[in-house]
Amino acid sequence: MPLETITETLAETVALPAEAPFSYNDDNVGRPLENKAVNFYSMTLEDLKDYLKGRGKEQFRAQQIFKWVYEQRVIDPEKMTNLSKKFREELPQLLSFELPPVVKHLKSVDGTQKLLFDMGQGNTVEAVVIPSEGRLTLCISSEVGCNIACKFCFTGKQKLKRRLRTEEIVGQFMAVHDRLEADQRISNIVFMGMGEPLDNPEAVFKTVEVIHSPWGINLSRKKITVSTSGIIPEMWRIADAKVRLAVSLNAPNDEIRSQVMPINRKYPVSDLLKACKDYCEKTGDKVTFEYVLMKGVTDQLEHARQLVKLVRGVPCKINIIPFNEHPGSGYERPSDAQVELFHTELIKLGAHVLLRRSMGRDIFAACGQLTSAKTDLPETMDISNSQLAGMSKYKRELAAAKLELTTPQKNSPANNEVPHV
Ligand code: SAH
Ligand code: SF4
Repeated sequence: MPLETITETLAETVALPAEAPFSYNDDNVGRPLENKAVNFYSMTLEDLKDYLKGRGKEQFRAQQIFKWVYEQRVIDPEKMTNLSKKFREELPQLLSFELPPVVKHLKSVDGTQKLLFDMGQGNTVEAVVIPSEGRLTLCISSEVGCNIACKFCFTGKQKLKRRLRTEEIVGQFMAVHDRLEADQRISNIVFMGMGEPLDNPEAVFKTVEVIHSPWGINLSRKKITVSTSGIIPEMWRIADAKVRLAVSLNAPNDEIRSQVMPINRKYPVSDLLKACKDYCEKTGDKVTFEYVLMKGVTDQLEHARQLVKLVRGVPCKINIIPFNEHPGSGYERPSDAQVELFHTELIKLGAHVLLRRSMGRDIFAACGQLTSAKTDLPETMDISNSQLAGMSKYKRELAAAKLELTTPQKNSPANNEVPHV
């Protein structure tokens, strides 16, 4: 496909309202509520029961409302026909079903979709939908920006603006769901968007509860993955929730890891691997190690050998992710040949390894390309032919994307494995 055709099919942008349809609260965090009603998506079933009880309402109404919202996808109280007329009229004063507004919706040539959400006060976060092998994986964000400041990560370049609230994380799922084709269903959820999930554990694990509970979104725990840079004191929560653990290892030893991930100075590799082992023992599951290949930094064969030695004894698989370039990162993506050499070396050494094709690079939705900034960053631009004409670097990226699209994929991920943006 010629480059022009790729760029023409690149971006479909949804029509946006001229202004957000509400005004902001003065609590200075987060998004507003339309009125003083509590946001429904912040609640578990028990929370809503307690809330209704506190307002002198019948508790069994909570179950009915959860069924309408998560089973029937009905949020208009008027249509919740098994509620009494009086209660239906009162409901808008009690509960808000407001979702974070989608301010941009981009579709990649490879089927990946990226949605940009307005979280108020100029803050935006992104969610990415990735189709692969009969699955549809949703990658969601847990924070605006990230304080872990990994050197290679675009999100990490922005200091933490704030942690998202439960309703804003659940809201990403619901808003994405509303925009899928009629025959599409999210099959997997990964906390691999913007932010460090274990830096926002209360909201993240409440969201996890809403996602896997039969009264909520009702997705199997095995289809939920929480990815962390290795905040060891909080890692027990992932085992406790019985969801899958992914760890961004990204280096074969302490020296390199501390250089690319400063968090390693606080939580060094040996402690991290011990925490991973604990997870495996507690859950009987494997850990997924993510390993970003950066040219000359983590991609040498010697690194592959060290890596295999390092993780020996931890039941795991390793996802290798060629570095996704972004402006001013200072790192480079290795050549395809070097990636293949590294990959082959790991296989030779007996590692369970998956080489990840980066999805959504044309819409800047790939790993480490997500950002909360609204200005001067490429993924918030309307991607048009004329703009691309002036972006030779991104033209090369597109050409690379074309190659990836037309090359048959080796090592296609099995159905229960973590895909990668
Ligand atoms: N904060 C969590 C989850 C979000 S980051 C974590 O670090 O695990 C999700 C993944 O993107 C991580 O594995 C990270 O190593 C990877 N990543 C970050 N920047 C990248 C880049 N520029 N290219 C490829 N992968 C990147
Ligand atoms: Fe934060 Fe994860 Fe990016 Fe590190 S890789 S800066 S932890 S989002």
